[in-house]
Amino acid sequence: MSARAPTIGIVSLGCPKALVDSERIITRLRSEGYGLCADYDGADLVIVNTCGFLDSAKAESLEAIGEAITENGKVIVTGCLGVEAPLIRETHPNVLAVTGPHQYEAVLDAVHTHLPRAHDAKIDLVPEGGFRLTPRHYAYLKISEGCNNRCTFCIIPSIRGDLASRPANAVLKEAESLVKAGVKELLVISQDTSAYGVDIKYAESKWKDRTVHARFLDLCKELGALGAKDEVWVRLHYVYPYPHVDDVIALMAEATILPYVDIPFQHASPHLLKAMKRPANQDKMLARIAAWRAICPNLTIRSSFIVGFPGETEEDFETLLDFIEEAGIDRAGCFKYENVEGAPSRDLPGHVEQDIIDERWERFMEVQTTLAFARGEALIGSTQRVLIDGFDEERGAYEARTKADAPEIDGVVYVESQRTLAPGDFLDVEIIDAQGHELTGRA
Ligand code: SF4
Repeated sequence: MSARAPTIGIVSLGCPKALVDSERIITRLRSEGYGLCADYDGADLVIVNTCGFLDSAKAESLEAIGEAITENGKVIVTGCLGVEAPLIRETHPNVLAVTGPHQYEAVLDAVHTHLPRAHDAKIDLVPEGGFRLTPRHYAYLKISEGCNNRCTFCIIPSIRGDLASRPANAVLKEAESLVKAGVKELLVISQDTSAYGVDIKYAESKWKDRTVHARFLDLCKELGALGAKDEVWVRLHYVYPYPHVDDVIALMAEATILPYVDIPFQHASPHLLKAMKRPANQDKMLARIAAWRAICPNLTIRSSFIVGFPGETEEDFETLLDFIEEAGIDRAGCFKYENVEGAPSRDLPGHVEQDIIDERWERFMEVQTTLAFARGEALIGSTQRVLIDGFDEERGAYEARTKADAPEIDGVVYVESQRTLAPGDFLDVEIIDAQGHELTGRA
């Protein structure tokens, strides 16, 4: 009989991109025969995948490392905060190793050093599509790392480097194996999704019997062709409104991919966008959005915004509120500006007082909530195709999402049905009630 496999716990903090990194690490570890454990006690070693985007995220990461050391003792740190190894070692001198974002090999090396692998790794036990931290029916698909932009509030390029796109055939191979493994929704992520392929000059690669280009539009077409219409959803996150995005909206209109686009606008005031050094020209954005909606009337636009950026006046803030109303932004996240260490925006003039930032955030959320309620109300009586995520025991209803809702960040539909449904099932439901982004449906 072989000895118990060495077992690893993983704490994954931060954004979906970090989650994908964790999944890759887990997939590699499992393929080498390591066991996984969901609690500190049962694990021989813990990997903490950290986030370093904002100071609050750094603090949370440091706290998580501390907790893992107290509860388990053997801790390897990776992820975005890993680039600040001196800070981590100063706060937690007992960490075994510190590596940066997507340094999978370095993480694996550290694990091999501190917890040697089992002799009889059963490589064939790794499921198609790898091991994932998301439920079985949806998966994040990372198409590139890094970013060529230099937004002044952001330290991601200094952590993750310039844009590095994956070859189109590698992305498609991963997507296909995810679909074969039962995934019904692919969430395309990167730092700047619409810049995909720019760094590798839209390189050609061989995919099945044809040649594919590492180009945003081509990739969307190929991903959309992986399943029959409405049987595999493809959702785009972190899209910047470069001109070629217009062509992708046409694909949404013909239902090749979901009519959903996540565009982090961050603000609407021209001089603030300039101070933020945002990519893409914001001019005439309202007219472009109107044109998109003319092509694809059921388009959902999600966005995120920052309030209280240095130099933001009351007038700028009102421009932002007008924009979310006029553009009909369907889902909006709002962040209070944080003076992140290392971000160029720290040195900008006109820092806004915290109580004004807080007050603007409240006002933003009020407007957003009013819009959400109106939008929900308008859906009552309509029929919506939904994807089942699970069952909510407390409500006695299935939890599901419409095409307009990305997992974890958008709304939910509680479906009352006599049918036996499982996560990953699609069905059409009639919307009978709405409270903002929370809908009730019947099937
Ligand atoms: S686009 Fe801007 S905010 Fe997004 S990762 Fe790149 S630099 Fe950061």
